[in-house]
Amino acid sequence: MATAYAAEAIVLRSFRTGEADRVVHLLTPAGRVNVIAKGARKTTAKMGARLEPMTRIEAMIQPGKGDLSTITGAHVLWSGDDLRRDPVRVLAATGGIEAIVRLFPEPEPDQRLFDGLARYLVAMTEPLGDDLRAGAEVLTLAFVLKLLALAGWRPEVAACVGCGGAVEVYDAAAGCAFCGACGSGMPLDQASATAAARLISEPLGALLTLPAGQRTAIARLCRATAEEHGGVRLSLLAQSPRG
Ligand SMILES: [Zn+2]
Repeated sequence: MATAYAAEAIVLRSFRTGEADRVVHLLTPAGRVNVIAKGARKTTAKMGARLEPMTRIEAMIQPGKGDLSTITGAHVLWSGDDLRRDPVRVLAATGGIEAIVRLFPEPEPDQRLFDGLARYLVAMTEPLGDDLRAGAEVLTLAFVLKLLALAGWRPEVAACVGCGGAVEVYDAAAGCAFCGACGSGMPLDQASATAAARLISEPLGALLTLPAGQRTAIARLCRATAEEHGGVRLSLLAQSPRG
């Protein structure tokens, strides 16, 4: 049997299985790891509370046969309680977690991905401007744009890549913006393109206030890029009204 090891991990998702067990999907700096937590649903089991999504833990992991390892111990490094007590923040953060799950399905080591998720979840507990829902959405859009860049699909949208002129369209396959004369694609206005370029290049949380129309346009850009290059659908702001 392989040796048990300790790993810092963030809980992405957890599912009930069997009588009292849970399957927990973790992100570690070494990549995705799926573990089973035996007895985690029994009320007496303290482990259950430590395996809520968005919690950052130091996990003891016993590798098993095949894909599924067993988690034999967990020490909380960041509980996520401040995040989980606010449904608006939870809803937005769920979109960020979903993007990680879909865009990074392979168990590949990525310290920047792990650090980015840890930073995003902490940022989601901080003040997010006068309009909490909008601020939480913008934070998540910034995070997803950075995830797309990490995956190698950074959208180049600051200006038309052909002539440097004003942006009018986004070509998801090329991953860049054009003016109407240089290229074609889905409509993208210059203000939304500028905002997206800022969200990609500036630190997470530096820009939190964007009009609803720009939030919708950037979400559409993210969804198109993820679908074109990763073949995955992101539900990001799918229900948001256009404005
Ligand atoms: Zn052009």
